[in-house]
Amino acid sequence: MMMTYEGKSVFEGIAIGKLAVYRKVEQSVKRIKVEDPEAEIARYADAREKACAELGVLYDKAVKEVGESGAEIFEAHQMMVEDGDFIDSAENIIRTEGVNAEFAIAQTGDNFSAMFAGMDDEYFRGRAADVKDISERIIRILSGGAAGGILADEPVIVVADDLAPSETVQMDKDKILSFVTVHGSANSHTSILAKTMAIPAIIGADIPLSDEVDGKIGIVDGFEGKVYVDPDPETLQKKQALLEKEMKRKELLLQLKGKENVTLDGQKINIYANIGNTRDLALVLQNDAGGIGLFRSEFIYLGSQDYPTEEEQFAIYKQVAQTMAGRKVIIRTLDIGADKQADYFELPHEENPAMGLRAIRICLTRPEVFRTQLRAILRASAYGKISIMFPMIISVKEVKKIKDILAAVKAELDSEGIAYDHEIETGIMIETPAAVMVAEELAKEVDFFSVGTNDLTQYTLAIDRQNASLDEFYDPHHPAILRMLQMIADAAHKGGAWAGICGELGADLSLTKEFLAMGYDELSVSPGMILPVRKAVRETDVAEYKKVR
Ligand code: PEP
Ligand code: MG
Repeated sequence: MMMTYEGKSVFEGIAIGKLAVYRKVEQSVKRIKVEDPEAEIARYADAREKACAELGVLYDKAVKEVGESGAEIFEAHQMMVEDGDFIDSAENIIRTEGVNAEFAIAQTGDNFSAMFAGMDDEYFRGRAADVKDISERIIRILSGGAAGGILADEPVIVVADDLAPSETVQMDKDKILSFVTVHGSANSHTSILAKTMAIPAIIGADIPLSDEVDGKIGIVDGFEGKVYVDPDPETLQKKQALLEKEMKRKELLLQLKGKENVTLDGQKINIYANIGNTRDLALVLQNDAGGIGLFRSEFIYLGSQDYPTEEEQFAIYKQVAQTMAGRKVIIRTLDIGADKQADYFELPHEENPAMGLRAIRICLTRPEVFRTQLRAILRASAYGKISIMFPMIISVKEVKKIKDILAAVKAELDSEGIAYDHEIETGIMIETPAAVMVAEELAKEVDFFSVGTNDLTQYTLAIDRQNASLDEFYDPHHPAILRMLQMIADAAHKGGAWAGICGELGADLSLTKEFLAMGYDELSVSPGMILPVRKAVRETDVAEYKKVR
């Protein structure tokens, strides 16, 4: 029967495999009276030397496997082995009680680790395990034990009460799919090592360390912090699919992270990410986006009970700009209405909301809402590279009105002495057939175009994008759309603007070549599609493609 256990995930990812419960070989230490305490003290000194040598070997191994910072723990352990307080205490026990070194060290280890465990600071509490670890190492050396090799021949999910850093590093990394521990803190070296090894790990799991688990098939889901033991076929299949997706993504990452978006014949294109809120930023960075091509700012309004204030919005835009550290962030002004409704806007009921009071139309009829957002965006532009983009444009007249409002808001900020980027780029979404038809004139008014293919398809084909029963008719590959896309890119370039695509079609890998041939400068896609699009770009020879197109 499938059992599910929960804990705290310290690294995301999926692992599927055999569960191996790691039971510590408890070294029972006997208290033995000795004749010659000084001889015990000499044995202890000798063992310390050997322990430091072992730790040196572990350090070198860890540097190779997990890097300098992951290996530092073994240097710290060497220092703890040589720690004067620890040595004084152990030697004192040997002399005053006349006992064997093993016992004195076990006693000292217990005392010191209890002392750390009782500290308020989480970092020091985490060190309790390290003290135990080094005293066990010295005891093992004293009693002639060899450093334990651990684990089976097939890769396993290691389940343990807690793992000492030396235990994790001695394990053969190729044989570990994941760590699950009952104890351990987020600062423990098990989690640090798991993160460095980039394998899913869960700590604080309420999992039994028994035959109920040992040897069974398990799934570690580092996204939800769960461990499934003996999963049912349905769960197994679901997680297997997730694992495959993860593996593909990781493979792509390895191959493509840090690589340029350039075709075989040298044409470059920017690949940016679409986001809805700040939670998406981690994915944006993980997937190596060159910038943010569409920040759907209306989600700030949708997630709120009332109009979000200038300060609230400023804080969000600033966070995005700072996180992107100088890379472009295109904030789209609110695109509310139609399928995105917020009650406090008290929009009138409409027969035909997709063609109703939405997006820029709301902004132009409620300039105070618009100005608040523009102020927040402008203020945030002092903290990074922000561009502003306006949705649902149909005419040059609208764009001129918007520019007047923007100029007034800038003047207001100037008079208040508030900083903003005076060179801030402005652009518009091309998502209505009207905008396509007057694109040449529009291009003279703005710095860039970004094509909203979702709406452009809806309005061009007269097919409600929300109506699932029309899916078979909703065809963004329709020649009308593809021809419009070419017209848009041409018009942009003629008018001195750059052109991008931020609708879903931008991530359509069967069209990447086509977009490059059309001369698009940017594609903005969901974070998970950045690397697949980069791959498609890097495999394209545009000149060759144009010959057969
Ligand atoms: C679009 O219409 O293609 C677009 C990107 O905007 P949204 O999907 O938010 O309407
Ligand atoms: Mg749209």
